[in-house]
Amino acid sequence: MDTILVVNAGSSSVKFQVFAVDNDGRLSRQIKGQVDGVGSRPRLRASGAAGDKLADRAYPIQNIQDVPAALRVAGEWLRDEQQVVPLAVGHRVVHGGPDYDRSVLVDHNVVSRLDRYSMLAPLHQPHNLAPIRSLLANFPSLPQVACFDTAFHRDHDDVADYYAIPRRLHAEGVRRYGFHGLSYEYIAKTLPKVAPEIASGRVIVAHLGSGASMCALRGGRSVESTMGFTALDGLPMGTRPGQIDPGVLLYLASTKGMSASEVQDFLYRECGLKGLSGISNDMRELQSSGEPEAAFAVEYFVYRAALNAGMLAAALQGVDAFVFTAGIGENSVSIRARIAERLGWLGVDLDPLENGRHAFQISRAGTTPVYVIPTDEELMIAQHTLSLLWSRYSSAKTREQVS
Ligand code: AMP
Repeated sequence: MDTILVVNAGSSSVKFQVFAVDNDGRLSRQIKGQVDGVGSRPRLRASGAAGDKLADRAYPIQNIQDVPAALRVAGEWLRDEQQVVPLAVGHRVVHGGPDYDRSVLVDHNVVSRLDRYSMLAPLHQPHNLAPIRSLLANFPSLPQVACFDTAFHRDHDDVADYYAIPRRLHAEGVRRYGFHGLSYEYIAKTLPKVAPEIASGRVIVAHLGSGASMCALRGGRSVESTMGFTALDGLPMGTRPGQIDPGVLLYLASTKGMSASEVQDFLYRECGLKGLSGISNDMRELQSSGEPEAAFAVEYFVYRAALNAGMLAAALQGVDAFVFTAGIGENSVSIRARIAERLGWLGVDLDPLENGRHAFQISRAGTTPVYVIPTDEELMIAQHTLSLLWSRYSSAKTREQVS
């Protein structure tokens, strides 16, 4: 069986999925797994296409001290116990910087270019690149593809991409990129199949998970995002603040004497729902807590989401439909209802029964359509990987025929 391996590596976990490729180039998910607790309590868990458990085992800490070791263990398990030897590996890479507006086959040169963007995504990029490096060293002929969270947003108009700072900084790469692009691309590709009447129109997609952002789509292309230079901007998130006056950071540096790396740590790990509630970064926990601080954090999230939707509606000059996706967007009936209630002025009116049963379309007839669409970033990565593999194969064939 031909397969594509998809890898999403974080600081203490490696998530992976295996897709089978049939003779017509169609992909079907076979295995979903992760090695988490890297460097603390490593554990490999995996399930099959139907959710059947394939593995759940703990490892001694010395066996899995870092992300490349986690990928090695997952790779050995896939090869030895599942007989999976992938044709290629697709990686989620958070930042493609100004250079990459699409996925790319990786070599050492590409990795060193991507490494330059590590400072733009310090909590993600180095961990995304570590398994690529280790596979390049150990399996140099295995094709690897980097798929970026920024790429889908790369053809924004300049007016959406610039900051109002001296232009030379834009040329250096200080500009608004936008993130969660693989998720938005999946939604944009799904809309023509499931809601063709609005797919070419103006759609606001809310990716509400532990990382959260919104994207304005016009005709299936991203024209605006709530995230910017880094994945800190826009909506409040589990541990990130979302939009914040840069004056607050100057205050922290000058009054509290915080260094750049302390401010960075603070912004990525201590803010958002966690900072506001002082209880948890997890929306479910906050909703089940009786503490007023938890209720305030939830209300803040709803308020800022609706505010940002208003901004994107202005970018689009109107809205033809909304889509909710990711952990909170796909699962929380009450958050969807509360955000929608604030968007009545845009013609939004949810049907509580349809919303309560997580229907595909949750809006009342005759109002602005609102959809719930589960995202699938891994499928996008597998598709990009397969299509680059295919174009490499086709150009090698052409070269063979010419020579
Ligand atoms: P993600 O990063 O997309 O996996 O989303 C994670 C977030 O989704 C966490 O804050 C979870 O608490 C939240 N979440 C998942 N299921 C629910 C639910 N049923 N109600 C509220 N929040 C949820």
